[in-house]
Amino acid sequence: AGMIMKGAEVIAAMKEKILQDVTELKTQGIEPVINIIRVGARPDDLAYERGARKRMESVGIRMDVTELPEDISQKDFADAFRSVNDNPDVHGIMLFRPLPPTLDEEEIAGMINPIKDVDCMSPVNIAKVFGGDSDGHAPCTAEAVMEMLDFYGIELSGKRVTVVGRSMVVGKPLAMMLLKKNATVTMCHTRTKDLPGACRQAEVIAAAAGRAGMITADMVSEGAVVADVGINVNEAGKLCGDVDFSGVSKKAAAISPVPGGVGGVTTSVLAAHVVRAAQILAK
Ligand code: NAD
Repeated sequence: AGMIMKGAEVIAAMKEKILQDVTELKTQGIEPVINIIRVGARPDDLAYERGARKRMESVGIRMDVTELPEDISQKDFADAFRSVNDNPDVHGIMLFRPLPPTLDEEEIAGMINPIKDVDCMSPVNIAKVFGGDSDGHAPCTAEAVMEMLDFYGIELSGKRVTVVGRSMVVGKPLAMMLLKKNATVTMCHTRTKDLPGACRQAEVIAAAAGRAGMITADMVSEGAVVADVGINVNEAGKLCGDVDFSGVSKKAAAISPVPGGVGGVTTSVLAAHVVRAAQILAK
């Protein structure tokens, strides 16, 4: 069986650096603040919020939540968003998406200060990720995969990497970040004809499809590295990833579990983005 890539180890390493930066900011009289904007009270959002709060508290970042009613008008929503965006005490903003269908996300994405846009909704930050420019904020989950591969010393340059999933929050930006590291990237999605073949030829697989256990051992080459981004609930009601862990872990050189893998690293990346935003805004 291969090495287990544990989120907790990546989180611990990132925490040290973040704590140093927060301490430095506080000596300058700056308390880093993230404001999470939530419309309604979806259970997924509330779960993420609890995880984020724990992580922010652990590194001395203040987290405020702006709660808005689900039936808010676009105008009131935009006004509420603007007041957070314009507040000089707020360094990072994260808006839970998708929004209710009555609200227009694009107006908000165009309005957010790109420096405060810590989870990459602004077209400015999206363009930076896709242009290979690392001075913006990339989507936290995609970056969390990169942090994990980096922490475990997984070489990417020239390697065949297969990404399963092409969403704008995970698959696509992840592919761009892998390209930036000179990986040879194959993108797979629901229309891919030979997913098993595309996975078998990969030296590294990143699974972000949202399908419980879809990456099975027969699809993975001996010695491959497998990062599992999926967060699913299986028939038994248990949290699981996109990878059939028990089968694939016997063949993989390294594999990340779910839970306990990439998921938790996402909020550490978010915290690191808030710190960087506060540093930039302090200049
Ligand atoms: P999404 O539904 O927006 O996109 C899924 C992508 O996977 C699509 O591009 C689709 O084409 C592809 N796909 C779906 N089924 C497939 C199949 N059978 N074969 C090949 N491709 C297939 O999902 P998302 O928002 O990108 O999230 C993906 C997964 O990652 C989900 O399980 C989600 O819960 C998880 N996720 C985790 C975090 C985190 O760790 N914090 C954050 C975001 C998403």
